[in-house]
Amino acid sequence: ISRSLSEVDRAKIARPPAENEDTLFGKIARKEIPANIVYEDDKVLAFRDISPAAPTHILLIPKVRDSLTRLNQIQEKHKDILGHMMWAAAEIARNEKLEEGWRLVINDGPLACQSIYHLHFHIIGGRQLGWPPG
Ligand code: C5P
Repeated sequence: ISRSLSEVDRAKIARPPAENEDTLFGKIARKEIPANIVYEDDKVLAFRDISPAAPTHILLIPKVRDSLTRLNQIQEKHKDILGHMMWAAAEIARNEKLEEGWRLVINDGPLACQSIYHLHFHIIGGRQLGWPPG
């Protein structure tokens, strides 16, 4: 199964999906599509990005999207899972030996180039990163 960024994925940059519309990351979370998994527990899953922007580029997702399509949509009920995701991101960065520096990125919405509407953290590192981002 190909996991390259399809035209359908790209189209979602311009058209965020309906709340109940499944995404690629939902299929990965349910193990319907394979991924290079680096961390998993009962709440979250992390896997290597198919198109890495740096030597380490990992995506961290909540296993159940619920209504977590994008950061802009978070609600008070999501505080626990968001805290768990921050902890898991740091744990993954430690596992990847990124102590010299790394970045946690959330692309939120069309102007930020969010292409998949299942909340995800990008864990990026392994090279000198530039600032400001594009
Ligand atoms: O923040 P954004 O929604 O743009 O991030 C989506 C990420 O999912 C991209 O970094 C892209 O490379 C990755 N991706 C993937 N496998 C796919 C499609 C996209 O890892 N099949």
